[in-house]
Amino acid sequence: MPATAVNDDEGPRPGPGEAAFLGRSPRASIRPPPASDRAGNPRSPRKTLIATDVAIVGGGIVGLATAYQLNKALPKSRVVVLEKEAEVGRHQTGHNSGVLHSGIYYKPGSLKALNCRLGKKLMEEFCEAEGIPYEICGKVIVAIDDSDLPALERIYERGQANGVVCEKIDKDRLAELEPHSAGVQAIHVPEAGIVDYKEVCRRLAQRIREAGGEVLTGARVAGIVRTKDKAVLTTADGREVEAAQIVNCAGLQCDRVTALAGQKPDAKIIPFRGEYFELKPEAEHLCKNLIYPVPDPAFPFLGVHFTRMIGGGVECGPNAVLAFGREAYNKTDFNLGDFLETMGYSGFRKLAFKYWKTGLGEMWRSASKKAFVKALSRLVPEIRAEHLEPAPAGIRAQAVTPDGSMVDDFLIQETDRVINVNNAPSPAATASLNIGRTIVERLSPRLA
Ligand SMILES: Cc1cc2nc3c(=O)[nH]c(=O)nc-3n(C[C@H](O)[C@H](O)[C@H](O)COP(=O)(O)OP(=O)(O)OC[C@H]3O[C@@H](n4cnc5c(N)ncnc54)[C@H](O)[C@@H]3O)c2cc1C
Repeated sequence: MPATAVNDDEGPRPGPGEAAFLGRSPRASIRPPPASDRAGNPRSPRKTLIATDVAIVGGGIVGLATAYQLNKALPKSRVVVLEKEAEVGRHQTGHNSGVLHSGIYYKPGSLKALNCRLGKKLMEEFCEAEGIPYEICGKVIVAIDDSDLPALERIYERGQANGVVCEKIDKDRLAELEPHSAGVQAIHVPEAGIVDYKEVCRRLAQRIREAGGEVLTGARVAGIVRTKDKAVLTTADGREVEAAQIVNCAGLQCDRVTALAGQKPDAKIIPFRGEYFELKPEAEHLCKNLIYPVPDPAFPFLGVHFTRMIGGGVECGPNAVLAFGREAYNKTDFNLGDFLETMGYSGFRKLAFKYWKTGLGEMWRSASKKAFVKALSRLVPEIRAEHLEPAPAGIRAQAVTPDGSMVDDFLIQETDRVINVNNAPSPAATASLNIGRTIVERLSPRLA
């Protein structure tokens, strides 16, 4: 649906990519603010008021998928996505491994399992319809020695319970699928795939705008005021968005946005940097598709693995070290405020106390390429340091509760006017279109 811009004096007027007043038009609208406030003080000339039904904070894949699903399910509802960066998908979504996860790992009945299964199907359909390249290339989860077998068995059972197409394979079959991988047994998951989630985000943003929604970039939400019948979001540059409902999909900042909206989050985000290497072209033959280890069930991370990417190349990693800032992508990046917040959080201190040994191991792997190569060589023994070159790191937003537990499942907290997505780690990119659909189901009665 095309958008309509509304000016206080002139009434409705068509304008591409703009939003409509609550209760006046089915479309979101933009109006300049009055020249002065109620007290007669002059207002900033930059201030623009957009009125909408739903304001979504965060233009990562979860926020965009939610806006897209809202447009599809409730085409008369107006939606505005506010993204603080200059373009969408810059944080977790733009730094992920690009895997279409099958849902094999997750506890049956969990939000991760349900949304991953349904979301993967929706993502494949979306890519198919939009001509976005994706590939169902298959994956192997490899038991390196007999000690991995009980955990491999549990993953297989979960796969069966979650309806994942998978089979246990022996060494010979593994050698056919991945000739350079070593293991005593494996699970083959033929339905796992790869895609470029940045491309998915760009296309979602395009479709949202074409349907009359707004995707505002460079719009960092810095304040939220809730009143009895609406909420007003203020951006750092002074723009205002008035919304009936807010959806918080702010990823690494989601707990802060939850607090801005007046709710105490159940958990705090602790940022974990995942560092990667890439295989040099002459070593790419060492991995045909996706080679994963049996993960440690104590952690929501999958262990260092090999991932062929849809755009070419093979990524190796990631480890998981504490990041010294929520957006501290380089080893030397340091954000004092973020760091002090993490250190001051009792949940983090309890987590660090519980897992200090694992943490030290991850830090050692971060400092020493040799140690990283050693971890990779358990899966692919031929790998050597000279096969690898550094690749960009990603940062995972991991929600940690005050008792020091890492929240394993997706976490959604609601108030009457705000739906907060407070934990959306992997496989949230795969699952995003179904997470969006679920959020829209929760929004529907509120917008009626
Ligand atoms: C290293 C790594 C590898 C991964 N691999 C995979 C994979 O292969 N497959 C998979 O399915 N999942 C994977 N994941 C997980 C997946 O990438 C994330 O779960 C998913 O991208 C989360 O999306 P999001 O929209 O919630 O968060 P994000 O992509 O982080 O988006 C949040 C957005 O909110 C914006 N924002 C924050 N605060 C504000 C504010 N105040 N105002 C306005 N905007 C704001 C940010 O700029 C950001 O763009 C991986 C994650 C990482 C880190």
